[in-house]
Amino acid sequence: MRKKKKKDWSRYLYAIFDEYNRRYFKAELPSKETTVTFELFDRDEFCYGACRKYNERLGRNKWQSWNIAVNWELRHWEVVVRMTMLHEMAHLASRLESGKHGAQWKAEIKRLIRAGAFDDLL
Ligand SMILES: [Zn+2]
Repeated sequence: MRKKKKKDWSRYLYAIFDEYNRRYFKAELPSKETTVTFELFDRDEFCYGACRKYNERLGRNKWQSWNIAVNWELRHWEVVVRMTMLHEMAHLASRLESGKHGAQWKAEIKRLIRAGAFDDLL
């Protein structure tokens, strides 16, 4: 009997990131500088995901990197994973402007809605 292949959850998230980056962000989100991970959030309030910025340094070189995390407990709900990815990618597109869900982030979400990104998810 063939052994059932275990799902590669990391590859699964990167595939969604690449798909959306190409379809809705003209592949302009910094894919090389962005890690995408499932994560168990240790917080009192339930959290769908997060988008974080890091300032990296290697000798004289400084650059920024990013992480999008999706709550591990959501992994089997693809629709919710995808909605969370769009939400967090909108943060990345607005480069985490101050004021978490500010005007730039809202404009990104409206643009995504108009582009049909949520059509199959709602
Ligand atoms: Zn948010």
